[in-house]
Amino acid sequence: MLRVTPGSTVRAFDGNGNEADGIVVAVESGRVLVELDKVREGGLEATIAVTIAVALLKGDKLSDVVRHCTELGAKEFAPILAKRRDVPGLSGNKLDRLRRVAREAAKQCGRAVVPEVFEPVDLAALQWSGIALVAHPHAQGSLADTQREAASKAHEAITIITGPEGGFTQEEVGELESRGALGVRLGARVLRAETAPVALLAALLVPEAL
Ligand code: SAM
Repeated sequence: MLRVTPGSTVRAFDGNGNEADGIVVAVESGRVLVELDKVREGGLEATIAVTIAVALLKGDKLSDVVRHCTELGAKEFAPILAKRRDVPGLSGNKLDRLRRVAREAAKQCGRAVVPEVFEPVDLAALQWSGIALVAHPHAQGSLADTQREAASKAHEAITIITGPEGGFTQEEVGELESRGALGVRLGARVLRAETAPVALLAALLVPEAL
């Protein structure tokens, strides 16, 4: 556990994009009193707003997706119900846990914004603005094509859509593509369902931060 003592310098954030440096003036049971300096806008947000639309996964794998994608700069998470999903739904407790994971990950990596985690929606009801990318191993579009497309539409929102361990059905991919989503292939190997969104997000956001 991290211990703070009077005189320690800290950085506080409100989860909505504001942050401030401060000095701890008192530590009482369950309470830390901080004197804050000027409040400013946090400067670590990505210029591209990326939504991670990820299929429900078994066990705690969604937590890993939320943790890593928060560190990499995702704006929000839209869990999706795909036909071959590994679990039927997301309990209230699991949703709370995902939101806690997003908060902790934002804190750990210094972001002043905590990404939202929405209630799951059917894949057919998923809405997006800007570009949508559907990741599937047999897609025509390569990652390089996708990076070029994203770069040419700088500052547009991007939604990354990745499937369950059993993958999307052909009908699901066809339906998404008919709504304008672009298929993307992440190399020759098949990635785990929890790896794919992290890999695609890193490919889009890490180069813009360099
Ligand atoms: N046999 C399944 C299929 O053909 O889709 C494999 C599913 S994979 C374990 C789980 C999810 O990760 C896929 O639905 C896709 O979204 C993503 N994925 C894994 N490897 C990928 C790759 N090489 N290219 C694009 N997406 C990939």
